[in-house]
Amino acid sequence: HPWQMFDSFPQEGSMIMDRAEGCYLVDIEGNSYLDSVGGLWCTNIGQGRDEMADAIADQVRKLAYASPFVDTTTVPAAQLASKLADLAPGSLNHVMFSCGGSTAIDSAYRLIQFYQNCRGLHDKKHVIARDGSYHGSTYVAMSIGGKKGDHPPEFDYKRDNIHHVSSPNYYHAPEFDNEAAFLDFLVDELEHKILEIGSDKVAAFFAEPIMGAGGVIVPPKGYHQRTHALCKKYGVLYVSDEVVTAFGRLGHWFASEEVFGIIPDIITCAKGLSSGYLPLGATIYSDEIHNIIGAQGEDRCFTNGYTYSGHPVCCVAALKNIEIMEREKIFNNAQSVGDYFGEQLKSLLDLPIVGEVRGYRLMQCVEFVASKETREDFPPPLDIGKVISDIADAKGLMVRPIGNLNVMSPPLI
Ligand code: PLP
Repeated sequence: HPWQMFDSFPQEGSMIMDRAEGCYLVDIEGNSYLDSVGGLWCTNIGQGRDEMADAIADQVRKLAYASPFVDTTTVPAAQLASKLADLAPGSLNHVMFSCGGSTAIDSAYRLIQFYQNCRGLHDKKHVIARDGSYHGSTYVAMSIGGKKGDHPPEFDYKRDNIHHVSSPNYYHAPEFDNEAAFLDFLVDELEHKILEIGSDKVAAFFAEPIMGAGGVIVPPKGYHQRTHALCKKYGVLYVSDEVVTAFGRLGHWFASEEVFGIIPDIITCAKGLSSGYLPLGATIYSDEIHNIIGAQGEDRCFTNGYTYSGHPVCCVAALKNIEIMEREKIFNNAQSVGDYFGEQLKSLLDLPIVGEVRGYRLMQCVEFVASKETREDFPPPLDIGKVISDIADAKGLMVRPIGNLNVMSPPLI
């Protein structure tokens, strides 16, 4: 099991799921749960759709696999790449497929190295990310991530060229009188970090539009534009990790431009891209990058990709998923129900143990505190998020415990 706790697992065992329909999961004992987690932020169109099963089965019968390498492709992969180029903002017109979010991040990292070497900027390879961020669990994705709890000492991490700045978590920045002052601090900190490393050495900044696994952290208003402007100023590529936020969770195909007003150089996505029906990730990048790496006459080979890059069955699932999202206007629902959900969750603030309710639309989180005044956490051994999620499970509601949080990201339906 990913994130297996070796001590408690033999006592507690697994919750074994058997079937699902729409927003509901049913375990092997027949207990039904409203899945407010959306699997792992991914079952956007809801489960059990015949149309998805039919599209997948038809593609398996027609062509289950063909090599994506060098100069071969399939119709679904080509159609999906074209569709993503249409949906993505700005000049993000080039798509590399991968097997999920971690490999999309890994590909972004390798793309950045390749790009800088093509430009002759062999020292410009450092990346900056944020404390508390989650970008996946390949070696490099986990090293870019900044969640302390995900960095146990038994694993090693790439440290030589990966740096972290503060999480934009205002709730836990009591030393600032207001959000604007906190924002100024965050922007200054990033600029200082770029200058400390040397702007000729910093290649990229990695950021989730809203930090997900790090606690649904919605940065102060203006954070994205100001950090993006800094990146432009110093020639630093902006990588927007939209593995959670894309495909409707915040009410749009992508959140970077439509919610936060920036056009990054690279967007990574996965999860809602196929609504969890099959594994798929994509790294979408700009014409500007492509024009450098793919310059004519350079005789280069971009040796990145996987046996299952652009797998035709996964791409068919994503195309059908996107078609359903468009036809059913699912994002309208994500917008109106998402706004309602956020408002209603705020009513929990009346409870003495609820310190903060935060998020945007269908990406929400409740933070529990031992004291509202000091914002002090409950002692970790209590595992308050798990205590509450166990109670919720018994009542037929799944919420995701992460430390002192319960995180919710329901299907968009
Ligand atoms: N990036 C973000 C923002 C994520 O939340 C995740 C997974 O939760 C990943 C990357 C990694 O995706 P995957 O688990 O599909 O490899």
